[in-house]
Amino acid sequence: MFLRIDKLQVDLPRPSSADPDSAAVVQELMGGKFGEMSTLMNYTYQSFNFRGKNKIRPYYDLVANIAAEEMGHIELVANTVNLLLDRTVADSDGSGANPLGMALGAGYPDHFLNTGLGTMPAGAGGIAWSGDNVFSTGNLKLDLLHNFFLESGARMGKIRTYEATSNETAREMIGYLIVRGGVHQEAYAKALSDLSGVDVTKLLPVPDIESKNFPHAKKFMDKGYHRFLYKFSPNDYNELGQIWNGDQAETGEKREVVDDIPEGGPVPDLTEVPEMFAPNVDPNDVEELGKRFLNS
Ligand code: MN
Ligand code: MN
Repeated sequence: MFLRIDKLQVDLPRPSSADPDSAAVVQELMGGKFGEMSTLMNYTYQSFNFRGKNKIRPYYDLVANIAAEEMGHIELVANTVNLLLDRTVADSDGSGANPLGMALGAGYPDHFLNTGLGTMPAGAGGIAWSGDNVFSTGNLKLDLLHNFFLESGARMGKIRTYEATSNETAREMIGYLIVRGGVHQEAYAKALSDLSGVDVTKLLPVPDIESKNFPHAKKFMDKGYHRFLYKFSPNDYNELGQIWNGDQAETGEKREVVDDIPEGGPVPDLTEVPEMFAPNVDPNDVEELGKRFLNS
């Protein structure tokens, strides 16, 4: 079962103005082939489907525990998209007080037409995320190899998205995901190497592009996030340390299982946008009309 904590894994800065184009690009990290919905659902279904869980315990713990972290990643991407879409009324110039006017020419019309300025379970190309993205064979080595590949592809997506936007809110979130995805990529490489006796990092450099190249990722590395594997459970998944040990790949510092969750930050509370439902209607007029009805 799952517990839920009403916090985000990082404290997201509030953007000073709307940035629907960055929101459109960041969607890839939600529902793209290598997005957070894919990592979440792959590890979740694998953890459901593994047999002999006790026999493969440290590996089962690893996959199940990372799945819980990924749930917080989709939450983080969603809140980033929503923050990037916020203030579309106040910021819009000529196209007016009507945020729906921004749907024309917007990077992602669904943000306006379907969700009322909210995130979609889809990639940047507009294709809805699908269960076809889940690879869960019940074969531990095969699933771990897939997860290593998935985190490698996810890293590529994060790095490209980071470079595609200069938005500070988006980059703060992506910087964090680059660091955390780096931990997952490294953990799956380590798990595979332990299982097979083959040094997986000889096949592909881990990491290929170092996280410290990205200022927003470096900031989180300075706090140690690149060497922590958080235990997202008060009492369970206690064998993570059998895999997550030794030296962190990029800095050589010691890997550490942290029996805690990230410090995190508040879930942004965005103001209502009545214009999404009745464009160009002044809320004061509606209130006035209401009073007249009541008095008639
Ligand atoms: Mn993730
Ligand atoms: Mn991951």
